[in-house]
Amino acid sequence: MIEFKDVKKIYPDGTEALKDFSLTVNDGELVTLIGPSGCGKTTTMKMINRLIEPTAGLIYINDKNIKDYNIHELRWNIGYVLQEIALFPHMTIEENIAVVPEMKKWKRKKIYDRSLELLDMVGLDPSTFKGRMPSELSGGEQQRIGVIRALAADPDIILMDEPFSALDPISREQLQSDIRDLQRKIKKTIVFVTHDMDEAMALGDKVCLMREGRIVQVDPPQELILNP
Ligand code: ADP
Ligand code: ADP
Repeated sequence: MIEFKDVKKIYPDGTEALKDFSLTVNDGELVTLIGPSGCGKTTTMKMINRLIEPTAGLIYINDKNIKDYNIHELRWNIGYVLQEIALFPHMTIEENIAVVPEMKKWKRKKIYDRSLELLDMVGLDPSTFKGRMPSELSGGEQQRIGVIRALAADPDIILMDEPFSALDPISREQLQSDIRDLQRKIKKTIVFVTHDMDEAMALGDKVCLMREGRIVQVDPPQELILNP
């Protein structure tokens, strides 16, 4: 579970990125954050894995103050999928997937089995990935591997910051449906940033509408009142 309580973020230059931001993301829930550019979505995400610190307010992860976690322990338990496809270009696909599990000192066999399971879950044939480099894959395939890499070490929480925005509409739709299936199977706590309302409504158990550092509304998609 992720809880923000009256969080404020003022950057050193005086920009107020978040103002009294309170949000709860329950275990196994997928919450989409949506709002115009600059409304504070990325700031919110970066605070969840302590890339930045709040200026005021409290953040709890699984009922523990985020500040009381060892930073590695915290980050190993959070998978982050970014907009830019960010696979390590000089590593094979298998090596990319193994990065965090290896840091956690998982055994080879366990990493291998986990990789096969995840590849299968997102509809990729494991045999076609043997020894291949990221540059040999399409954008959609690379982004799928990015999702697998974030899931590899079985984190409790997954952060996705516009993960599909660089993709063509067809790959994008396919990946949205994969994420929905995946979420049903693995029931992870997911925060998903988008600026696409259709995507926010299609994916979110709850949609959090943001504007100028505040929450305008947070509700299940069918209960959202859309103000122009
Ligand atoms: P979003 O992800 O919704 O586009 P951000 O969280 O990136 O919004 O940014 C929120 C506000 O904070 C914007 O006005 C942005 O310009 C500002 N901002 C983001 N990062 C910094 C920073 N490092 N220093 C100063 N201002 C920042
Ligand atoms: P996004 O729209 O995806 O949130 P941005 O283009 O707003 O991304 O920000 C890209 C990077 O620049 C982020 O790391 C953010 O923290 C930083 N940034 C954004 N606005 C400012 C700003 N006004 N001053 C300094 N850094 C900023």
